[in-house]
Amino acid sequence: MIVVTRPGVTEAEVDVIRERIEALGFRTHISRGEHRTIIGCIGDEDLLREAPLLQLPGVESVTPVMKPYKLATKEFVGGRPSLVRVGDSAAAVVGGKELAIIAGPCSVESREMFRETAFAVRAAGAGMLRGGAYKPRTSPYAFQGLGVAGLQIMAEVRAETGMPIVTEVMDTRQVEVVGEYADMLQVGARNMQNFSLLSEIGKIQRPVLLKRGLSATVKELLMAAEYIMAQGNRDVILCERGIRTYETATRNTLDIGAIPVLKRETHLPVIVDPSHAGGRADLVAPLSFAAIAAGADGLIVEVHPCPEQALSDGDQSLSPDAFSSFMQSLAPFVAAAGRTLKPLPFTTPETR
Ligand code: PEP
Ligand code: MN
Repeated sequence: MIVVTRPGVTEAEVDVIRERIEALGFRTHISRGEHRTIIGCIGDEDLLREAPLLQLPGVESVTPVMKPYKLATKEFVGGRPSLVRVGDSAAAVVGGKELAIIAGPCSVESREMFRETAFAVRAAGAGMLRGGAYKPRTSPYAFQGLGVAGLQIMAEVRAETGMPIVTEVMDTRQVEVVGEYADMLQVGARNMQNFSLLSEIGKIQRPVLLKRGLSATVKELLMAAEYIMAQGNRDVILCERGIRTYETATRNTLDIGAIPVLKRETHLPVIVDPSHAGGRADLVAPLSFAAIAAGADGLIVEVHPCPEQALSDGDQSLSPDAFSSFMQSLAPFVAAAGRTLKPLPFTTPETR
């Protein structure tokens, strides 16, 4: 922590500031300039972070030196990016050279529609399945998801396709049951700062897909990841899904700049959700191209067998055919970014 004094600070004031910092267990290093005095505080910065030093007469500013997200910061692992392995025998890996593609419907609506979507997205090259069983809907009258029945459908389809499943947990009371079924737990944008939920999830050993809050800063997103990691669960993937701005032409504003900033700040993988960012099927491809170019480690895309009949987020969902063309259209961007896509599986008519 670096404390800078106001111009004209008195020696007596500097003494009081120094004594206060030393009383908190820190060593101090004082450097006197022509106008201001700089007091370097040497010790565990976390113990000083909450100390109200600005209240002391003569203090102008207090600046931390260390990042408050000490487990999420890149320095924690010596600057190396972390890989997050998802599913039994690490069926999918996020954060490596291969771009991770998660696809599936916004909500699991029935066994048939989820199964059909799963086989279609697998044939097109997706590596993981998404689907909501517990849905955070703006209206309490809108479809809320199938709950446990939805989780069971996802688990059955995982058994058939071999694809890990990603699904949202909305509440601390659901952590146990969602953790039993899911390969990766999703924390939705609306829950990014639900600190009790983050801490509960941190206690189980399941990878977590943490979506950026609607109005959350990059720092707040990293602090949310820190909540999970501080409880012992280090397998966190961050997701930029657009933030709320004054712009209404898109559902949210995809913060492309957040991708390189996060890659600079943290070792955690960063993926992008072009579906919720743009809110329209025709924006999924261009936003994905930009995300790949900016360094994203993966994409999570909504796909529905019949988007016009979807119970949630139909406008932004791709049909299976559109998803297949979309996957092919990624190739030049993936290559330009020095990444790869999962090789297409060998499919027979029965497995489609
Ligand atoms: C979702 O993934 O369907 C979802 C609700 O996302 P978000 O939390 O980003 O709005
Ligand atoms: Mn959705």
